[in-house]
Amino acid sequence: MRRLFVLVLTLLTLGPVSPAAAAPAVAPEVLDAIAASWRKDPVYVYSSLQIPPAELARIRKAAKSLDLPVYVALLPSPSSPSRYRRELTTLLRGRVGGDGLFLVWHVDGGYWAGYHELVAPRGSQAEERFQDLRSDDKAARDITNDQPAPLIVRRIQQAKAALHGTALPPIPTEDLDIRPGRRGMSAQDMKDRSAYIGMGAGAVLSFFFWLLVFLRWGGTAPQPSPAARRGARNAAEVTEAGLGKQADAMINRAARALRKVEAQISRDKASAEILDRRDDAAPRLEAARALRKETGLEPAAAALVLARQALSGLTEGVVRPPCFFNPTHLAGTSMVVWSDVEVPACKVCGVAVEAGEEPLSLRVPQPAKLFGLGSGEAPYWSMESDNPFVTTGFGALSDDLAERVMNR
Ligand SMILES: [Zn+2]
Repeated sequence: MRRLFVLVLTLLTLGPVSPAAAAPAVAPEVLDAIAASWRKDPVYVYSSLQIPPAELARIRKAAKSLDLPVYVALLPSPSSPSRYRRELTTLLRGRVGGDGLFLVWHVDGGYWAGYHELVAPRGSQAEERFQDLRSDDKAARDITNDQPAPLIVRRIQQAKAALHGTALPPIPTEDLDIRPGRRGMSAQDMKDRSAYIGMGAGAVLSFFFWLLVFLRWGGTAPQPSPAARRGARNAAEVTEAGLGKQADAMINRAARALRKVEAQISRDKASAEILDRRDDAAPRLEAARALRKETGLEPAAAALVLARQALSGLTEGVVRPPCFFNPTHLAGTSMVVWSDVEVPACKVCGVAVEAGEEPLSLRVPQPAKLFGLGSGEAPYWSMESDNPFVTTGFGALSDDLAERVMNR
């Protein structure tokens, strides 16, 4: 049983289970297959994905309503989403030729996100109007993304309004992401979701990951090794106040970068990529600010991670996962095998793990247990908790920390 989990995890952490996954260099035959399929059907679905027929029917119906051809590709998650989507869209557009609305969408961690490009008749100025409509369509930010149709249908509506100069229709209530009292997903939710979207979901990754952790530790916190005790001393320097200051400084920098990008967008000079950067960074920054209203080491660390991701996303177009072991470290730039799982790690932790040492984990106060046992501090990941910091590894295991924070 355990072997199977390891295999699943390895597949998931290595990336999607598809040739399209070897991003950004997409196999030409995959591109050919998508382009060929588009000649018969506006919606291409990668074979490993299971999308409910009603969702597909809704997209096809919306596609018919546009005067331009609509091309939709639904794919498993790429390893470097932003660059990959853009390149893929450009390559596909080249294969198809002509005007059209291109929507290349991926599922990542159970959530859908996509890249879109409108190629409108020359001189129609619909492309500029499409960008304006997208940034002005604030209500669309509340559209649910755990299914592909609601957002894709909205993109098609935005393109239609841009082409014809008409107003946008209202968004149906059932498409809005209103989840009162939602507190993350249960393990069963994650399994259901993984069955629905197929493999490649971060949610499944973290589910199996935590299962493994508890198999290994028997559900109890590990005894600290001498190296971990050294780590504890080291981590004692990470104070809530110090971390809060770092997070606030990072939030200010990210906010400045966001204002700059917003100004660029309002001057009508923004490419689709700039809009994507803004759309990715704004919710991270919003969640980081919300976290700064909370007390504790974990919210401060999460705020730092999210603000740093917002900043690098805005300025470089790159969002890196944090170091799994300690989100206050530099970003996780290498994948290391730990506890039979591949996790992103900073250089220092990566070297420690490869040398068989315990990395310098972020340690948090342990909840008091009966009979006074188990008090003190322990690595955050050894906590039995359903808070989004632990379940996502501060975003190292699945890139939906901001959303989970805001939906608690
Ligand atoms: Zn580290």
